[in-house]
Amino acid sequence: MKEVLFCLLLAFASVTYFVGLGSAAKKGRKGRIDKLYFASTMCSAGWGLFIGLTLIQNNENIAAVLRAIGTLHIFGLLICFTDMLVYWSGIRGRLKRWSVGFVWAGLILYPFLLIRSNVEFEMTSYGMAYRIKPGALSLLYAAYCLATALNLLRMSARMVRRSIRRRDKDIAYALTLCVVIVGFGRVVDISLQLLGYAAFPISALGQYIAQMVLCRTYLFYNSSQVTLQNMSRFVYYSVDEPVFLFDEAERLCIVNNGATIFLGMSAEECCKLRLSDIFVLERDAFRFRGSKNRVEARCWQRNNICSISIDKIYDDYKDIIGYIVIVHDVTERVRMLERLEREKQRADKANEAKSAFLANMSHEIRTPINAVMGMNEMILRESEEPATLEYARNIQNASKALLVLINDILDFSKIESGMMEVVEEPYSLKELLKALLTECRMRAEEKKLELTFQVPADMPCMLLGDEVRVRQILLNILTNAVKYTVRGSVTLRVRYEKVSDTALDIAFAVTDTGIGIKEENIGRLFGKFDRVNEEQVHAIEGTGLGLSIVDRLVKMMNGTVTVESVYGKGSTFTVCLRQRIAGEELMGTLEESSGSHRQQQKSAPVFTAPEARILAVDDNKVNLTVIRGLLRKTQVQIDCVTSGRECLEYAARQHYDVILLDHMMPSMDGIETLEKLKKLPDNKCRDAAVIVLTANAMAGVRDMYLEKGFDDYLSKPIEGAMLERLLAKYLPAQYVRAGSGAQEQQTT
Ligand code: ADP
Repeated sequence: MKEVLFCLLLAFASVTYFVGLGSAAKKGRKGRIDKLYFASTMCSAGWGLFIGLTLIQNNENIAAVLRAIGTLHIFGLLICFTDMLVYWSGIRGRLKRWSVGFVWAGLILYPFLLIRSNVEFEMTSYGMAYRIKPGALSLLYAAYCLATALNLLRMSARMVRRSIRRRDKDIAYALTLCVVIVGFGRVVDISLQLLGYAAFPISALGQYIAQMVLCRTYLFYNSSQVTLQNMSRFVYYSVDEPVFLFDEAERLCIVNNGATIFLGMSAEECCKLRLSDIFVLERDAFRFRGSKNRVEARCWQRNNICSISIDKIYDDYKDIIGYIVIVHDVTERVRMLERLEREKQRADKANEAKSAFLANMSHEIRTPINAVMGMNEMILRESEEPATLEYARNIQNASKALLVLINDILDFSKIESGMMEVVEEPYSLKELLKALLTECRMRAEEKKLELTFQVPADMPCMLLGDEVRVRQILLNILTNAVKYTVRGSVTLRVRYEKVSDTALDIAFAVTDTGIGIKEENIGRLFGKFDRVNEEQVHAIEGTGLGLSIVDRLVKMMNGTVTVESVYGKGSTFTVCLRQRIAGEELMGTLEESSGSHRQQQKSAPVFTAPEARILAVDDNKVNLTVIRGLLRKTQVQIDCVTSGRECLEYAARQHYDVILLDHMMPSMDGIETLEKLKKLPDNKCRDAAVIVLTANAMAGVRDMYLEKGFDDYLSKPIEGAMLERLLAKYLPAQYVRAGSGAQEQQTT
């Protein structure tokens, strides 16, 4: 009998031992629970083995030693069980400390259990048995074993109660079973001894069953756990994106759920396919350099547009063992981009239509103003009648105001639609300021205001920037200063600071002694169509656009505009701009023309050229009359025609030194006329300068005309002085004689 029991215990111990070793040998089993499980198998095997060996002993002393070793394993197993339960059940804090502390505290009993006088050995029919002598120690030991068993039971019950996930519940049930089996065994063992019977190794046999249950629980725990190692499997199957795995023979072998949904086939059906059966692709799509490739292709089945990334999979010998193909369905994105492109084209078209409308507006409005201003200038030049001159001056002022208004509206729309560009070219700030001074002087004189420009003489005056826009900004602020000042003065102070050898920071400060602006209104100044101090300014012409244009232009040039004002006392508008230096010339003093505008209009022309011949082409007869009138005193011979076709006829018949060619004409416009003129076989005007006359004042048109082959550009309404200056430049020098007004024109 004892041999049978020993063999049974030995067999169980061996199985447990190898199971423990096997699981410990597995890769990645290094966690706390793995170590505890391994220790529990070793303790369980040790318990069975040494109690088995005790059974077959005849010598009590040897049996006592073997029993002592076996008992140590019992303690070890109880400690492992408690620790595992604590870990799995997630018990923390005091409860954890008490549970673990209690089971370890049991070890205090161990030496007493070994004292020979406390234990009796007895040879029974099933081998050498032992019993703790009844008394305090046996009661204490029984109480300890019972308390440990109850504690384990309480923890496993708590885990059953608290587990939410089914996995945890399963583990909890299994652990409860283990605890019940071991606990039951121990209790029976101890009870027998307490009752005076020799111990029968019930718990040694029972704990094997518990150990097997624990082993199953442990394996289940490991298999159902998501680890970094097995995470990829979950990721692979859970991504929505279709993922295909091809083997080295380029056959599809694994697909994820995303792929089966994408193809609308079962996984088995998918696995008969090649990549080119799924996508419109070259057969050798897998032959590429490097380890990754991305191609765009259409799917045969669904006509979707896809971006396919192909990754080669290498083994340890760097041989290709397969390919991972991840498909990104970009159909929606591509369609959206196409939609956006269509929208953009539509918006571009609308923008073009707007530009065309603006150009057209500009032309349509400027053409009649051109006639009005031109005719009026002729009256101013030729009339001697004071009353008529007064009327003409009023017409001139009104039409200039109208022109400013139109220009403001056009500029504003250009800025809003992003069509306004800053064009950097070399210019003379001195010339610009001189012209501004002349222009503002007239307005200031009319209101009897003192106008002063204070400019440092040592300042570099040849700059690189957008002269037109700088002029527009300063003119706007100066005009406002004059407009909103009743008496006193307007002063422009220019200060500069060299930021490098090639750049200057310039501050233009315009100070007036005018009506001033209330503090609460200063923030509104640069808003569009916003006029402030309504009660004071309603009688003064204005749209509220000027400063918002200034603000936007200054921003386009990366500058700033600021205002300081005292209501009723005056204001200072300061514009700071950075400009690059384009030459070494210094500002010096600003000499301004002494003659007044009225005198200029009455004065003699800049030049006379009776031998020079020019051809003026414009479909609007009034414009032709204006040109004739403006140039009358230069004595230039002028032929006028009203169409491109006539222009070509005249050019074939007669030599002209300059051709003034209107752009917008019906049937054949100025550009087409110029092209034909250049190709005209019997053109007698090959060396003639062709100047385009246009009412199109949009940004960038000047460059456009020069690109088309025109020699120069003159925008309507045409000013007599400008026209004369341009002709003086292009007429052959031998014909041009300085007129008596030349001196005056030069200085303005
Ligand atoms: P506009 O002069 O055509 O009304 P602006 O945009 O140039 O439009 O000016 C906006 C408003 O700012 C003006 O209506 C005026 O109330 C105020 N303003 C501009 N400059 C001055 C100034 N120098 N002194 C007092 N008020 C000014």
